[in-house]
Amino acid sequence: MQDDVSKVIISETAIRDRVAALADELARRYADTSDGIILVTILAGSVIFLADLIRRLPMKMRIGLITVTSYPGATTRSHGAILASASLPDLRGRDVLIIDDILDSGGTLRLVQDQVRRAEPRRVTTAVLLRKKANAPANLPVDFVGFDIEGEFVVGYGLDYNGLYRNLPYIGVLKPDLYEAES
Ligand code: 5GP
Ligand code: MG
Repeated sequence: MQDDVSKVIISETAIRDRVAALADELARRYADTSDGIILVTILAGSVIFLADLIRRLPMKMRIGLITVTSYPGATTRSHGAILASASLPDLRGRDVLIIDDILDSGGTLRLVQDQVRRAEPRRVTTAVLLRKKANAPANLPVDFVGFDIEGEFVVGYGLDYNGLYRNLPYIGVLKPDLYEAES
């Protein structure tokens, strides 16, 4: 599997350090919550980020899961975000933190933020591990960003290509001949 990677963009230690710093920022942000927060996680790409992040957060929390598909099968292009399923606790009046792996065109986060707001939470905050700054729309509110990266398609640390490579411990780019031709 590691042989399929042409370039490591963010190393395992760089991710660990940045996730720890993000957790400290979030702990400060939520220092005043007494009833805890609800973390809404977008599957499946965010699971490793979620697992590492929440073990560094001191406040009480419940976890909700949303599945959005936009990259079906062997593709590196978004085909439009569709809400596939949601398993969420009651969000009304609650402090909600949305977690996603990567912000690209913003279609995914816009869909999830709209869905969450319909449940009338008290406050909605968004954190992403990666942001493709050149693509991300200026009018989409994102409060916490792990790393800004270039526009290339990345895998690892939860992110897949055609379902594979989520278990790489770093963020990298695949060798070009591994991508299936797309029309
Ligand atoms: P957006 O809806 O913002 O265009 O894209 C966000 C979603 O597309 C992410 O949650 C992620 O699932 C997927 N995505 C966007 N860019 C990449 C990438 O470079 N690599 C991988 N594996 N997925 C990506
Ligand atoms: Mg995703």
